[in-house]
Amino acid sequence: MIVSLHVATGAAAGALAGSRLGAVGLGLLLHAAGDRMPHDDVASRPFEIASGAASLLLLAAARGPLDPAVLGGIAASVPDVEHVLPLPRPDGRKLFPSHRVRGWHRGGGVPAWAQLVAAGAILGALTAPGREAQSGRVGK
Ligand SMILES: [Zn+2]
Repeated sequence: MIVSLHVATGAAAGALAGSRLGAVGLGLLLHAAGDRMPHDDVASRPFEIASGAASLLLLAAARGPLDPAVLGGIAASVPDVEHVLPLPRPDGRKLFPSHRVRGWHRGGGVPAWAQLVAAGAILGALTAPGREAQSGRVGK
């Protein structure tokens, strides 16, 4: 699954969880679930890194860096860091469970553009001005 959608789904779950610990746990679970969903990926690693980082920065700017949505977004995207950094590979396989199990990651299914549209819609809802007034929350 593309990185920006990992960030967006983790951020949405974090916002719903309402606690930082819950946000991190849900984010990690959602990463595994997102990898399981049949999907296409974006072939450009620089695009993946830049769009993921931009998504996290946008969330942090709009909601504050320690908001559960931000932590959920980080937790849901950080497992893919091992695709980029030379981390240990016990038994020749990657570390995160959904990367270790053969056949977990499946191609086809949801195209990359649809994932990008979904990520943009979710991030837009999570960072929209006035979202707190709409949800009825007063203050922080
Ligand atoms: Zn992954």
